[in-house]
Amino acid sequence: MLISRVNLIAYNRVGIAKNSSGISVGYCRNPICPTISNKNSYSDTVSFGIKTPVTNHKEFRMLTKDHVIHCIYCKKPLIYHGTLRDMLARGVFSGPVSEFVKEISPYRDYMKRGQQQVFDQIAKYAEKCPQTHLEEILQLLHQNSIKRLVKTQARIFKLLIEESKKLPPDMQKRFRQFMKVQHKRLYEIPYQEKFNPETFAYKVHKMVQSVPNPELRGYLLRITAPMTTEKFKNPENLIPRELGLQMTSSRIDKLHTAKDFSEYVIYRVQKIGERLDRQDIVRLCRTSQRMIEGKKVIIPFSNKEFLKELAKVELAELRPNPVYYDMLAISRKLPSSNSNMSSFVVKHRYSNSDTIGYQLLKPSITTIEHEQTRTSGGSDALSNCVLACNADNFDRGSMPQYVYLDRWNKKNPQVYFDDVIKISNEENLISPSDIEGQALTLKEQGHVEVDLSALKGGEK
Ligand SMILES: [Zn+2]
Repeated sequence: MLISRVNLIAYNRVGIAKNSSGISVGYCRNPICPTISNKNSYSDTVSFGIKTPVTNHKEFRMLTKDHVIHCIYCKKPLIYHGTLRDMLARGVFSGPVSEFVKEISPYRDYMKRGQQQVFDQIAKYAEKCPQTHLEEILQLLHQNSIKRLVKTQARIFKLLIEESKKLPPDMQKRFRQFMKVQHKRLYEIPYQEKFNPETFAYKVHKMVQSVPNPELRGYLLRITAPMTTEKFKNPENLIPRELGLQMTSSRIDKLHTAKDFSEYVIYRVQKIGERLDRQDIVRLCRTSQRMIEGKKVIIPFSNKEFLKELAKVELAELRPNPVYYDMLAISRKLPSSNSNMSSFVVKHRYSNSDTIGYQLLKPSITTIEHEQTRTSGGSDALSNCVLACNADNFDRGSMPQYVYLDRWNKKNPQVYFDDVIKISNEENLISPSDIEGQALTLKEQGHVEVDLSALKGGEK
C-alpha cells in the first residue's frame, strides 16, 4: 500500500518535471501520454529515486531497452523493438555501410547464425568500400549464394520424394503435384497461379515493417487489411461500403467486386513502392497484377510457405501416421534465413537497405512469450509470461512448452532467470512474485526447473 502511494507521488512529480522544465521523462503509465512514443527510459526515473516493478506486457518488453535480457529458449540477448525502429528512423541502415557496421557491431551477438554470417560479410566489404550500401553488397553476394542454396534445397527435395513413396497412392499423386510447383519456385520457372488477396496483404504487412515513415506504414496497413477478410475469398464478391471506404478513403457510390478492389489496392501500393524506391514492394505488385490477369509468374521459393503448406494442406490428414512426422522432419532441414547465409541473401536480393538492416535484427526482437499458450487457457498475467525472441515465439507457435524446449539446452532458461533476478534485486523493476510465478509455470509447462535462490524478497 505504502509503495503504491509513493509511486503515485513519483508519478505526479514526473508529470510536473515534464511540464515545467520540458525534461523528457520516460516512464508514464498513461496510455495516451505523448512521452510514450518519445525517448522512453527507465533510467530517467532514477533521478526521482524510486522504481516500481513492471505491471504490463509493454513495460516488461521495454526493460530490454536498457537491460540485457537473454531469450528464455535460444539464450541470445534480446533487442527492444523501439531501438530498431529508432535506427530505421535515423537512417542507420540506408546510409554508407561503414556507418552501418559501426552502429550495428555491438548487436552482432544478438543476431541469429545466418544473420551473423551476412553481417560478417558486410563488415568485410565495409573495410574495402566504406561508401557502398547494404543492397549493393547483397546483390554482389547473390550469384554465389543462389547456386549454393539451390544445391542444398534440391538434395532435400530428393529425400522428400523418396520418403513420399510410403504415402497412400492418392496422397502420393497429390504430393507430386505439390512438389512440381515447389520445383518451379525453386528454379524460378514461370507458372500460372491464382491471386490470393490474403497472401498479398500478409506480404505487404511484412514488407512495410521497414518503412521508416509511420504515416505511410499505417496507410499501407490500412488499405490492405480488408483483403484478409472473408469477403475477399471470392473475386466476384461485392465488397461492402465500409470496407471500400477503408481502402479508398472516399465514399463509394456503386458496389464493386473483390477483384476490382484488389486491383485498385495493388495499384496504390505499387505507386508508394515506386516512390520509396522499394523494389521488393514493386515486384510483389507487378506479380500480383499478372496473377489477376491469368498470366504466368515467377514466385520465389519460400521455406516458411513450404513448411506451412506441407503441414496444413498436403499432409494434415495423414496424422498421426509416423510418415507425417518423418516428412516434416526432413523438410525442416531446408535452409532458413535465420540459420543460413545463402538463404538470407537470396531472400533479400531485391530488398532495399532499410529492409536488409531491419531483417538482420528482427528475429531477435523482444516478444512476450506465454508459457502456457493462450489457446490452451494460459493467462496474460506476468506470472505466465516470459521474454523470448521473435524467431522462437514464431517457431513455437501453439506447441506445448516442454516440446519446444526439447530443441534447446535445458540450462538456457536459467540464463533468462538470472537476468530478471538481477534486475529485480538491484532495481526493483520486476516483482519477485512474478518471477516465482514464471518459474513455477516453467516447471509445469516446460518441465524445466530453475534455481531462484538468488532472488530477494520472494516467498521463501
Ligand atoms: Zn530465442
